[in-house]
Amino acid sequence: MNARDLDAYCDAHQPRFVDELVEFCRIPSISADPAHAGDVRRSAERLAQAARDAGFATAELIETPGHPAVYAERMVDPGLPTALIYGHHDIQPVDPLEEWTSPPFEPRIVGGELRCRGAADDKGQVWMHLKAVQAHLSTRGELPLNLKLVVEGEEEIGSAHFEQLIEAEATRLRADLCVVSDTAMHGRGQPSICVGLRGVVALEVEVTGPALDLHSGEFGGAVLNPLEALSRILASLRDPGSGRVTVPGFYDDVAELTGEERAQVAAAPFDEAAFREVAGDVPATFGENGYTTTERRTVRPTLEINGVWGGYQGPGSKTIIPARAGAKITCRLVPRQQPEVIASRVRAAIEAAVSAAVRVMVTVGDGSRPVLTPMHHPGVMAASRAMKEVFGADAYRTRAGGSIHPVEMFDRLLGLPSVLVGFGLPDDRIHAPNEKFDIGQFHAGIQVLTRLWDELAVSLPKRAHAES
Ligand SMILES: [Zn+2]
Repeated sequence: MNARDLDAYCDAHQPRFVDELVEFCRIPSISADPAHAGDVRRSAERLAQAARDAGFATAELIETPGHPAVYAERMVDPGLPTALIYGHHDIQPVDPLEEWTSPPFEPRIVGGELRCRGAADDKGQVWMHLKAVQAHLSTRGELPLNLKLVVEGEEEIGSAHFEQLIEAEATRLRADLCVVSDTAMHGRGQPSICVGLRGVVALEVEVTGPALDLHSGEFGGAVLNPLEALSRILASLRDPGSGRVTVPGFYDDVAELTGEERAQVAAAPFDEAAFREVAGDVPATFGENGYTTTERRTVRPTLEINGVWGGYQGPGSKTIIPARAGAKITCRLVPRQQPEVIASRVRAAIEAAVSAAVRVMVTVGDGSRPVLTPMHHPGVMAASRAMKEVFGADAYRTRAGGSIHPVEMFDRLLGLPSVLVGFGLPDDRIHAPNEKFDIGQFHAGIQVLTRLWDELAVSLPKRAHAES
């Protein structure tokens, strides 16, 4: 498909696109800080205006009990496929401020990098989407498919009200595919499409023994210490030899990878030594036998102890048997594992491992399901072709070890598959001081997105019935 007309438009308007992004990034839309609530709203209003300017037929704020989101759409023809673009306009706090080499809300371009908070995560990537739409409309007069856009104002605070928003707006958000640009490529010149995210479920364990801390001289040796009981429970959850979680049924529902999927995971270059260094210089990696480090952290489930408490932790020693001890646990889940099912299996394993000399209470916290878009999904293939044309390389199909809650919500609430085409680079320092976005990535990303709409228009199945 020829995109020379679109490229010419983007080339001619490059400096202006960057200037606009710079202005957008000046708004300190920090969702976590109530003092910036007005700025988050200002950012939403600016974005809605920019969406109208880019050519969306309607663009408005969607109010939530927290910060507003922005919704825009351009419905060309109900018979055409519809894509929903997702991003966020809120940003992370900036502290520690003294570590920034230039003020976080005075964007600067240094060495081909735009330096400011939100440059890559996610304002720059949201802006690319607006400019790709503008390029289509200015060059060809109309989009090749229907586009909807929802840009959240609370992503950096855990998408607090986004589930409610999706439920309330389910009709307007209906689409055939969600396109998310809020991640990084595998590396410079190494385009990638993220097709899977792990889910997560949280549990808390509390072991109680005596009603109050006991004197270890008077009671020691005759009463089971809750910290010791807890330690045994926790240690029993993983086999140190095989690295496998020992919870009965933990792996029962895990979808084993096909040979092709395993090859895809292995295709993206991985440097074990560099990984160990990034991991804070760990002496060696550790995990489930029979799987590579990349597989262990992306396509295999895990159980991690996140925190343990109990007993005396002040200076010197204190001769007690503590009354209670507790731990926080989270499990990362992979396709076909359900948070509720895994939580109940872990709970059962903990209850089975506890001594009758203490009591245990297990509380199940929040969970989110894993998501996976088939690697031959037409949306993935379309994104792959668009990336190859611009970057000159085949896109790796990667799976992420973490969770992106809105992607899981779209999947669960709307049955909407997502394609994650992010244009950040691994060294963008998102969430950290001196965040940056490579200007070359910004331009290339716009070119990919203009092509993506052309590709999706022909490869997504035509809709059988009209949109309501
Ligand atoms: Zn983000």
